[in-house]
Amino acid sequence: RGSRDSHQSPLRKDESPVVHGVSEMIVGVLGGGQLGRMLCQVASQMAIKVMVLDPLEHCPASALAYHHVVGSFDDSATVEDFAKRCGVLTVEIEHVDVTTLEKLEQQGVDCQPKASTIRIIQDKYLQKVHFLRHAIPLPEFMQIDDLEGAKRSGDLFGYPLMIKSRKLAYDGRGNAVAKSEEELSSAVTSLGGFDRGLYVEKWAPFVKELAVIVARARDNSISCYQVVETIHKENICHIVKAPADVPWKIRKLATDVGYKAVSSLEGAGIFAVELFLTADGQILLNEVAPRPHNSGHHTIESCYTSQFEQHLRAVVGLPLGDPSMKTPAAIMHNILGEDKGEPGFLLANQLIQRALSIPGATVHWYDKPEMRKQRKMGHITIVGPSMGILEAQLNSMLKEETSDVQ
Ligand code: ATP
Ligand code: MG
Ligand code: MG
Repeated sequence: RGSRDSHQSPLRKDESPVVHGVSEMIVGVLGGGQLGRMLCQVASQMAIKVMVLDPLEHCPASALAYHHVVGSFDDSATVEDFAKRCGVLTVEIEHVDVTTLEKLEQQGVDCQPKASTIRIIQDKYLQKVHFLRHAIPLPEFMQIDDLEGAKRSGDLFGYPLMIKSRKLAYDGRGNAVAKSEEELSSAVTSLGGFDRGLYVEKWAPFVKELAVIVARARDNSISCYQVVETIHKENICHIVKAPADVPWKIRKLATDVGYKAVSSLEGAGIFAVELFLTADGQILLNEVAPRPHNSGHHTIESCYTSQFEQHLRAVVGLPLGDPSMKTPAAIMHNILGEDKGEPGFLLANQLIQRALSIPGATVHWYDKPEMRKQRKMGHITIVGPSMGILEAQLNSMLKEETSDVQ
């Protein structure tokens, strides 16, 4: 040891102050929904302080956060004030005020992932252009500004045609399908008209939807989770199966596309890459989320390091953990909102009661103050020795739900 640090000093050899615990960095999260809540859960385990910014006083993360600032993540002054109180700023939703994030970055605020990434991702059309430039396979697409343009895209891509709004899309709200030229106009109207900013995608004739969760550390090292299958109903994620039941070659291809897509973006954190698998074994990219994602909820119970812990590790600058599965299989089922009010809560509770008696099942309830149809209220993950067993357990849990409803 050198003479300088051989005596009393509170500084270490590299002269940085001694860190108490895992990290003393305050992590600021824009958004306090269920993703923020699950980030807070894992943060408490490591005593990492997570502050959330969300307009809802009783947002899902509020009860668990180190601090909850009630305010809009879409308001410049609010985001600036919030950012000044944090060591690193991250997001649980991509629909934030990105111009402010860019300004804050110029002032030296540490945003992970980078504002440039949020800017690309929050506009689905820009996102497609970006990935096309990086030679990532995706369904053909084009911008449309008027009905003539929409008709031309229909002539080019055929029907059904997927029309999407460029911004503020989630859970399929922002997508409309036109089955024929006659349906174009009503599909456009249902999305709020051309002024909203629309584009079209060629229909992807997928046989399965897959997703891969990819983590990137601050040193740009990348780590991928097992490829999963996601099952959507009416554009909204219902079930996730991990690992996906696809040949090894497809898993490899899906992981490669996910790796390449994330490599083209800047910043640390979790990224979720949604993919289509076609009958002829092609993988096409659907979209990327720059944050933990519904397709990775199973990792809480099924992986050595969950996507939420991995996200925290990545943005704080800790080494990434092990993403591999510690159980042979996992299945996740979203608890979606039903009817308004008490009948909906009753149904959800009946489902939860049945889940609680299934070995290997874990119930997550997000504690949202209100239930709305198709709103994500919670989820149930079952882990076990094989997908066949888990499917049977899930089916029996859901079958009883149907008989309850009748
Ligand atoms: P999320 O909640 O995942 O953010 P979103 O509102 O951004 O959803 P998308 O991911 O664009 O919506 O689409 C939702 C679903 O619609 C997809 O998972 C898929 O099932 C279907 N879909 C999207 N694009 C296409 C397409 N080009 N062809 C066929 N189906 C599609
Ligand atoms: Mg989306
Ligand atoms: Mg999606």
